[in-house]
Amino acid sequence: MADQESTSKPTLKQFLIYLLLFTILSVLFVVLLVYLRTKTGYILFDYMIALLFFPMLHAGQMFRKRFCYICSGLVAYIISAWAIILYDTSAANSIYTLSFFALFVFISAEMVFQRRRLIDSTERANAQLQEAILCAEQMTLEAEQANQSKSLFLANMSHELRTPLNSIIGFTNILIKNKKESFSEKDATYLERILSNSNHLLKLINDILDLSKIESGRDEVVSAAFSITELIDQLIHELEGQLADKPVEICTRYDDSLHPIYTDREKMKIILINLLGNAIKYTEQGSITLSVKTQPGSNRAGRVEVADTGIGIAEEEINAIFHSFHQLDAGPSKKYSGTGLGLAIARSLCRLLGYELTVKSQVNQGSTFTIHFYPEEMASLEQNQLA
Ligand code: ADP
Repeated sequence: MADQESTSKPTLKQFLIYLLLFTILSVLFVVLLVYLRTKTGYILFDYMIALLFFPMLHAGQMFRKRFCYICSGLVAYIISAWAIILYDTSAANSIYTLSFFALFVFISAEMVFQRRRLIDSTERANAQLQEAILCAEQMTLEAEQANQSKSLFLANMSHELRTPLNSIIGFTNILIKNKKESFSEKDATYLERILSNSNHLLKLINDILDLSKIESGRDEVVSAAFSITELIDQLIHELEGQLADKPVEICTRYDDSLHPIYTDREKMKIILINLLGNAIKYTEQGSITLSVKTQPGSNRAGRVEVADTGIGIAEEEINAIFHSFHQLDAGPSKKYSGTGLGLAIARSLCRLLGYELTVKSQVNQGSTFTIHFYPEEMASLEQNQLA
C-alpha cells in the first residue's frame, strides 16, 4: 500500500495547477476576511489554510498522500475545536461539523478509488500473465515438435548413412586382409586410414542415432532381471584391451550376494560402456574402480560408481559435459578422440530408465560418475556423505 501511494505522487503540471488554485483561494479568503472582519472569517481562513497546506506539501512531492490528508484533517479539526472553545460561535461549530463530515467522505472516497485502481491493475496484470503463460506453452509445444522432427530426421538420415558406410568398412577390411601384399606400403597405410576414419564416422553416426532415438521418444524400454555385476565383469573383459600399455589397473568392488536388478540390459550396457570407455580414455595412470553400492540394510543395488584417477574435470565444466557435442579438449590440437555424445547418451538413457547420472571430479585427481537407481534418495545420501 505504501508503495502504491508513493508511486501515485503528482506530476509537476499537477503541482503547478495546485499552487495556482491554492493562491487564488488564499487571495479570495484574505479578501473575504478583510471584508467581513469577523471571528468566523478568521477561523474560516485558518481552516482553509490547514485544509490546503498539507495536500500542497504532497503536491510538492514532499510527503505521502495519506499522511498529508490526515494532517490537514487533524489541524483543521484542532483549529475548529480551538475556535469553538474560544469564541463559541455557531458558525465555527457548523464549519467544524461540516468539515469533519467532508473530510470523512473525502478519505473514504479516496480509499474506494485506490482499491478500485488496485483491483484494475491486478486484473490487468493477471490477464497479461495468462497471455504470457499461453504464449510460453505454445512456444514449448512448437519447440518440442521441432525437436522431435529433428530427431526423426536424424534417425532416418543416420540409418541411410550407416548402410553405405558399413559396406566401405567391410570392403576395406577385405582389401587389408586378403590383398595386402599387392599394395605398396604407402597404399596400405591409406587403406588403414580409410578404415580408422570410417570407424570413427560410424561411431559418430551410431551415437547420433542412439541420441535421436531417445529424444524422439521412439526408444522402448525392455526390462528383465539380470546381474549387474556379471554385466560389469563382461564389459571390463571387452574393454580392457583399450588400455593398451597404460599403467592403469581396473578393479571391482561389490558383494556377490547382490540381488539381480530389473531394467533394460542393453541400455544399461550402453551407459556403462560410455562411462568405462571414458574412464579408460581419460586416465593415463593409476586405477579405475567400478563399485556397486547397496541400499542401506538390504542386498538391493542402490548405485553404481565408476571412479578413475584420470585428468579430471574443472568445476565450471561439470554441467556442460552432459550436453551433446561438448568436448573439453575440442579444437585442432585435441589429444583425445571422441564425439562429445557419450555422456549425453548415458544421461538420457539413465533418465529413460528412471535413474540419474551424476559426477564428482577434481582436475588432475580423477572423476567419479554415479548411476543412482533411486534418484529420490540422492539428497539424503549426499547429506550422509557430508556428515
Ligand atoms: P567424448 O566422446 O569426447 O568422450 P563424452 O560425452 O563421453 O564425449 O564426454 C564429454 C567430455 O567430458 C569429454 O570430452 C571429456 O572432456 C569429459 N569427460 C568425460 N568423462 C571423463 C572422465 N572420466 N575424466 C575426465 N573427463 C571426462
